[in-house]
Amino acid sequence: MPLHRRPARHRPAVPFAILVGFIAVASCSPGAKLLLSGGEKVRTFPHAPPSGPLVLIFAFDGVGYHELGKTLESGHAPNLEKLLGKSRGNGLYEHAWSAPNAISILPSTTIAAWSSIFTGAPPAYTGVPGNEWFVREDMKFYAPAPVSVSETDDTRRMVTEDLVGKALRTPTLFEQAGVLSYVSLNPVYRRADIFTTMEPIAFVSLMADFLHGEVMESSSLKRDAFAELDESSVPKLIDAINNHGLPAIQVVYFPGIDLYTHLAPDALASQVEYLQTITDPAVGQVLETYRAAGVLDRTYVLIIADHGHTPVLKENALGSEGTDTPAALLRATGFRTRKFKLEPGPDEQDYQAVFAYQGAMAYVYLADRSSCAAAGQKCDWSKLPRFGTEVMPAVRAFDYVNRTGTPIPRLKGTLDLIFARERTPPGQPSPRPFEIFDGKKLVPIYAYLKAHPRHDLLRLNERMRWLGVGPYGNRAGDIVLLARSGLTIPIEQRYYFSGPYHSWHGSPSEQDSNVPLVLACQGKDGSALQDLVGRVAGSHPSQLDVTPLVRAILGR
Ligand SMILES: [Zn+2]
Repeated sequence: MPLHRRPARHRPAVPFAILVGFIAVASCSPGAKLLLSGGEKVRTFPHAPPSGPLVLIFAFDGVGYHELGKTLESGHAPNLEKLLGKSRGNGLYEHAWSAPNAISILPSTTIAAWSSIFTGAPPAYTGVPGNEWFVREDMKFYAPAPVSVSETDDTRRMVTEDLVGKALRTPTLFEQAGVLSYVSLNPVYRRADIFTTMEPIAFVSLMADFLHGEVMESSSLKRDAFAELDESSVPKLIDAINNHGLPAIQVVYFPGIDLYTHLAPDALASQVEYLQTITDPAVGQVLETYRAAGVLDRTYVLIIADHGHTPVLKENALGSEGTDTPAALLRATGFRTRKFKLEPGPDEQDYQAVFAYQGAMAYVYLADRSSCAAAGQKCDWSKLPRFGTEVMPAVRAFDYVNRTGTPIPRLKGTLDLIFARERTPPGQPSPRPFEIFDGKKLVPIYAYLKAHPRHDLLRLNERMRWLGVGPYGNRAGDIVLLARSGLTIPIEQRYYFSGPYHSWHGSPSEQDSNVPLVLACQGKDGSALQDLVGRVAGSHPSQLDVTPLVRAILGR
């Protein structure tokens, strides 16, 4: 059974934005007065719709490329099907282009992915590398979408205090484009003019339901709760449009899909059914608003997701607290591990190792223990760990337990790859790239893959550089653990760092990483849209191309 003492808590995508009319002044932009109006946080009061092209972004949380494809082919998603028009095969539609090979950043996990999508920058530059992460120089743990911890305080801060916007070190799409922008629910809304969201009490209640997901097992009530989150967001954003005019950029985020997929038995089939019955009608309502305003022909509709989903078994959750967990292994190796709390108490500050969980991946942060050997001593976390004294002993312990089950039998065979790196030389602004432990030593990822081809892990070397190499690359930790995962192995052999769920993500596998990137426009031919995407993104598009694509459409 799972090592996890607490029942199902933790997961990635959280119903972020869920307050409305709650704060009058938030973290908005300098110089822009934030006023409160009904259900929205409003920064400006536009009237006439912008001339020129409009961009409408449907942000589907947790919808993989194949699940959206099944939905589009099902005959039961009339609004999406009508939007794209007749299929001409290979991703080309009458009025749309659906890139077949768009991929996520790593980890293929909610908060990091939306941060990269709505900035165009990789995690080592955004400073937001996961659903949770540790900033070593501040000794501060962030968990806007809690996975290893159970407190939802950062989720609330994400909605009410723009926690993600404050953490981001790169400009958002809304700042870069400098046009009138509205965001519904998405965690990235810094500098958007209007942020529509949900009432906070309802949000907290829904979050609690999610964290105790097991109690709702196999009940349609569960789906209804998450559907309510998605469905109720639409009238709010339509109200904002009616009251304040059409924006140049509208983000319509649906977090309920992901929450439901984590909890639903037969996760992937359940997701397709959700897309047909909940998402498609909601999309239809928004499109109808644009149609009624007479602007649909000049509106570029973009469909994008943060990650896919891979079904897993609840008993294969690698939990946080407990005696047979990754943290227990590090304790057995001689490290004092940080308590799995958002804010440990004053007497719990002497930790030498920190975990942050991302589903298929886990980050391990290590301290230089030379100044904090004795219990009760606080480590100097501004120092990086010593390669031979901290990093490699920990790497070898994970490798050994994975091969032998010693000293924790439960951890045998749970890991796929162990990434780590040498200490950054003094004066270097950016950490070294992650390398892979081959059982004896660290080797560069490309060299490891040459010797051990892994076609199931998409663009691994490039994406691990996106995660680790950049001014905030240290936020992904000193060691990255990749759990065994992927649709290509039996479900009994798949593991994940989290409490127990029916489905998870975060890996470099195709199922987790291949995301929809659909550009549709009623007034355009599909091949023209294909050309446009190709000009911006080339032949290997990723989430990093979304912000440049929107800017290209708007000529900004
Ligand atoms: Zn997500």
